[in-house]
Parts: sequence; C-alpha cells; structure tokens
Amino acid sequence: MSTKQKIQIPRGLKDVLPDEQKYWFWLENNFYSVASMAGFERIILPTFESTNLFKRSVGEFTDIVSKEMYVFKDKSGNSMALRPEGTAGVLRAYIEHGMHALPQPIKLFYWGPMFRYDRPQAGRFREFWQFGLEVLGDPNPLCDALVIQTVVKYHSKLGLKDVVVKINSLGTTKSRAKMISALTRFLSKHKKDLCANCQRRLKINPLRVLDCKTSKCRSITEETGTVLIDNLDEVSKKRFTKVLEYLDDMQINYELDPGLVRGLDYYTHTVYEVIVRGNKDLAIGGGGRYDGLIEQLGGPDVAGIGYAGGVERTINALKEQAVNIPNMIQSDVFVIQLGAKAKIKSIKVINDLDRVGLRVASSIGSIRAQLSEASKMNTPLTIIIGEQEVYDKNVILRDMKDRSQETILDRNLVKMVIKKLEEKGINVKPLSYD
Ligand code: AMP
Repeated sequence: MSTKQKIQIPRGLKDVLPDEQKYWFWLENNFYSVASMAGFERIILPTFESTNLFKRSVGEFTDIVSKEMYVFKDKSGNSMALRPEGTAGVLRAYIEHGMHALPQPIKLFYWGPMFRYDRPQAGRFREFWQFGLEVLGDPNPLCDALVIQTVVKYHSKLGLKDVVVKINSLGTTKSRAKMISALTRFLSKHKKDLCANCQRRLKINPLRVLDCKTSKCRSITEETGTVLIDNLDEVSKKRFTKVLEYLDDMQINYELDPGLVRGLDYYTHTVYEVIVRGNKDLAIGGGGRYDGLIEQLGGPDVAGIGYAGGVERTINALKEQAVNIPNMIQSDVFVIQLGAKAKIKSIKVINDLDRVGLRVASSIGSIRAQLSEASKMNTPLTIIIGEQEVYDKNVILRDMKDRSQETILDRNLVKMVIKKLEEKGINVKPLSYD
C-alpha cells in the first residue's frame, strides 16, 4: 500500500465535530444535573473488562455477546472485551468495592462510549455513547417508578416532546421460566416459518425470538399477544400493578407492551423502553430490573434496576423535533488586540480580569478572525484594544448583543465589566469549590 494513501475512519465510527458540540454539552450537562438532583453519584469505569464479565451478565447467547462484542487477547493472553454496555461494569465495581456494606440503595450514573460490532446504519454505530443510571439494593416497586421518573424528567429537561415509556414485566426468575416455556410452546408450532437464526434461538434462548426484526418472524411474534403476561405469577403481577400505580401517580405517559423483552438476558420484573413518537417511532433508550444478577456475578443477593439511553439517538430526536438548543456561554469577556503594543497591554488586561474570577478568552489573528471567534463563543462582552487605546490609557468595551460600544478608562475597566455582566444577569463571583 502506498504510504500516501488517505487513512479513513473505520466503518461504523464517527467524528463529533465542533458544530455538534452544543448538543453533546446539552445532553451531558443536563444529565449530570438531573441525575445528581435525584441522588445519583457519578462512576467512571474502564472501557474494557474481562470477556467473562459480559458473558456471565449480558448472557452468552445474546446477540450482543455472541456476535457483536469486540474481543481481543492482551499481551498476557487474557481475553478482554470492549464494553458493549454499562451495567455489567457497574455491578462488578459495586461488588469489588464492597458497596453492599454501605447504606443502601447505592445510586450511580455513568456517561461514556460503548462498542458493538453491529451492521452500521442510520443511528447505529460501532462505537456509540450511552448515559446510564443504576440503583442497587432497593427491591421496592417505588424504586422502579422513581428511576423511570428521573429518565422522563431528563428528556423533558432536554426539550423533547412526545416521549412515551413502553413497559412490561418479566416477573421473578421462576415466573420467567414459566413464561419462557409458554412462549416456546407457542413458537414451536410455527418453527418452520421462523428464520434460521430464530430456529436456533428457539432452542437456546426463546425470548430473543421476540427481538428478531425479520418480517417473517415479526408476523409470528406479533401473534404472541399476551402469552408472556398471562403466565406471570401472582406475586409478580401484584408488583407490576404497584409500579404502574406509582407511574399513574407521577403522571408518566406509559404504554403497556406485552411483547417487550429487551435484548439482554439479565432482566427480571420491570422492563421498559423510551420511545419518541414521530413519523417513525424512535427508541432512544431502555432498561429494567435485574434482581439476581449481582449474586450471579459473585456478589450478595441484592436487587438492582437501571436505564441506558443512547446519546446519538437522543440528539437525532432533538434535531428531528427542531428543539432549540441554547448556545453555551463559555466565557464572559473576549479580549481583542491589534498591534504589538496592544498585545502587550492585553496581557495585563486579561490578567486583571482573570484575577477577579472572570472567564476571559482571547485569540491571535486578524480583527475579523478574532471577532468571529468571539461571536462563535457567544461571549456577552468584548474588549477591543488598538494602538490608540494604548496611548489614551483606555479600551473599547463592546456589547455583543446590542452592538453598542463605549470607551472605558483602564482604571475603571474591571468594575465596568462586572457591572455590565451583572446587568445581563451573569453572576460574577471568583471561582470557588465550596
Ligand atoms: P441497549 O443497551 O441495547 O438497551 O440500548 C440502549 C440504547 O442505546 C438504545 O435505545 C440506543 O439509543 C442506544 N444504542 C444501542 N446500540 C446502539 C448503536 N449500535 N448505535 C447507536 N446507539 C445505540
């Protein structure tokens, strides 16, 4: 291969360019704020873990683990996998750091990239980002409703409309086994009409047949109707009713979906998916309860429930609904200088403004380039210093919104900038942590 050949981004990956950043900040900032207010704490986990972690949690026979995982051997010969989802790592950390010994529940949130070797198409990438919530150590049905409420609150804070939660129950592990046998009996009658993949799934993991997207299988699975829910045991039914009652009390827009099973093996009781209604319904996230999974991973018998939403899909939904995303104010004031002497003066000006805790931005380049950068940064005020201002011991202060300008003496500058910002409702306080 010629060394001059252009290297291109691998299939299914993407670059997030500067123009897109306002969406990413909007999602990330709002997620941190909604999750923190609801009592969740942030956890940062590795992007790859032992392959076994995902085999034992997500399930060896799920599409995610059997077909889509990026698996590699490290230099010691250990099998590692790029994480295809976030829950398994959170549970591993919960067990490893003895979090079960702390007052329960433990409420954690994460934000980061996930990897699945899936067929790329619109809205489906091989590296994509998820935001997630997990509550560990609370088996109460109210906990399910509270997690769903936090998720709904987040989407409404983002400005998304027509958000619906589709919900179902898979019951206890025992009840789930009964539901699976009923489903197997139903599907076996149509075995020859299922796709080859689903004929295999029917033997090893019949629930996954319900996820199949081929029209052949869909026409059969649509007929399953209430097979699952009819086989839900009484205790699970009662629990599910409670969850729905809480959601009613919270006035959450939900819809029962008796065919909803989700693509991972570990779910028990509540499973749900968040849909944005449009020309075509768009699934932007999902989650469910996974009582028993922590024990399965070698921890204590502790209940858990979570949610994972897709960043790219949520951004798509915001774009489709033309939601107006506010521009970020990254700095309070932008200093523009023209000429060698002005550059030297600008160093002192920047320093003076910096010391009172203002966010000061500056740049080198032509006046046009500097002005364009200032307006791109959405800076409320700009200070302009030319050679004349150096001799006159003043600067020009420009309001970027109404484009008015006035000349301010150097010694009054800091005071004047603070006053102007306060008039705009921007609170100027030295940066502090407590
Ligand atoms: P899951 O972990 O499969 O339940 O997916 C949860 C959410 O993550 C989905 O609703 C999507 O928004 C997002 N997601 C899953 N897989 C992909 C992918 N390959 N590319 C982009 N987003 C994805």
